[in-house]
Amino acid sequence: MTTWPVPGSASFQVPVEGQPGSFWEDRGDRFHCGIDIYAPAMSEVLACETGEVFDVGIATSPEQTHYWNTTWYVLVKTRSNLYCRYAEFGDVLVRIGDRVLEGQAIGHIGTVIRPQLVDSCSPVYIQRLKLDGHVSMLHFEVYRLRPVYMRPYRGGNWFGNGRPEGLLDPGPYLRGAIHGIKKG
Ligand SMILES: [Zn+2]
Repeated sequence: MTTWPVPGSASFQVPVEGQPGSFWEDRGDRFHCGIDIYAPAMSEVLACETGEVFDVGIATSPEQTHYWNTTWYVLVKTRSNLYCRYAEFGDVLVRIGDRVLEGQAIGHIGTVIRPQLVDSCSPVYIQRLKLDGHVSMLHFEVYRLRPVYMRPYRGGNWFGNGRPEGLLDPGPYLRGAIHGIKKG
């Protein structure tokens, strides 16, 4: 059992195939490595499971893609030996090496998309996010191995053939998650 990571999310359902933000969504030239949970900017993000902060870094930036803001990720190695990557934070409340408890706040959602810079040349999925007003979200990935972030991975998407090694569908991990429990 896990804790749902965003108490203030628009939905408490894992998006399924065919829905925006679903796992391995085909985005034309790229595939989505996790799921997106839409919520207002500054919404609190909770650890789904007890573990240790393995890495913190930049998830998106305008240097990578002009219509992105700078956001951060937190990678947690969990008690059940998975690696959960929480991404598109506006601020992070933990540091590398910290132990985090299930339900503990680890950061706040950031505004990842700069809608004024999205136009008809932008990827269709980005244009749809702008139209729907989904400019802030938690991007969530699960791996069974320590993930390695190198090209062709960028901003939560995979551009090459195959898949990142060890990548899992986060659906089974989050299905049945408990809502509204907060500790620490
Ligand atoms: Zn995403």
